[in-house]
Amino acid sequence: MVCRLCESKEIATRYHLPSLDVLQCRQCGLIFIGGQAVASSLADRYTDTYYEERSAYYYQNCVVDPEGGVEHGTIKDFRHGLEIINSLKQPGRILDVGCAMGIFPAMAGREGWQVYGVDVSDFAIEFAKKHFEGEYHSGYLRDVRFPDRFFDVVTLWDSLEHFENPLEELLEIRRILKDDGILLFDTPNADSLMRYVAHWIYRLSGGTIHYPVRKLYHVYHLYYFSAETVTRLLERAGFRVQRLERKTIPLVKARAGKMEKLLVRGLSWLERAFKREYELFILAVREDSAS
Ligand SMILES: [Zn+2]
Repeated sequence: MVCRLCESKEIATRYHLPSLDVLQCRQCGLIFIGGQAVASSLADRYTDTYYEERSAYYYQNCVVDPEGGVEHGTIKDFRHGLEIINSLKQPGRILDVGCAMGIFPAMAGREGWQVYGVDVSDFAIEFAKKHFEGEYHSGYLRDVRFPDRFFDVVTLWDSLEHFENPLEELLEIRRILKDDGILLFDTPNADSLMRYVAHWIYRLSGGTIHYPVRKLYHVYHLYYFSAETVTRLLERAGFRVQRLERKTIPLVKARAGKMEKLLVRGLSWLERAFKREYELFILAVREDSAS
């Protein structure tokens, strides 16, 4: 096995869990999932079952009423992203990779953007096509074959960690992004306080208490980036980080019961205090851009 960030073959097991192993590159520190867990193709994972199990996250997105002020955490993240985009760019072409049911493209479309979405899930893309304006493709980004330098903006909302090969995806994004284009995305932070707490519970119990780790590392997230590893990945793909923020998890995303959500809320407060929040929020530009 080779690290997909630095190509080192020195890979260690970080957590040995009943259903999967969490691995880490000894050279660059990249954390990723290994073994049988990653054998099934991406398209097979994101069927209707995936969306229905996460219905609070995905379907509530669809019924929010921005004009009426009804918004949950994910929508707030999308709005924050749109504000940044609108402060930097006049509306042009925007692509959301891993667009799921098309909520972010729909929001961008309402603000004058010409929107495109790609997702491996046929189920999600059918939903987007039925409900929203825009051009939606199901399958892999590379198979759509967008022209070179086509987009002003590309977004990845909680997608990078789902890709089988993030470097290849970023290289394709760089190809289709204009010279002065921007890439905006969020991804879980491998250095968050919640992960740190789960890590030490696992270590101090000799691996016997693995519930917290299991909640934070699962088969859908194939990679876990820190600010350092994601910066290195972007550089390898020909991007440079222009802005990096850390954000706590919107509670709607936490796959947890009532008591656990309360705990997540408390830990999120601590994460803010220690500046080790759950998610990284990054604005990157092509490394050859003038800005
Ligand atoms: Zn590595």
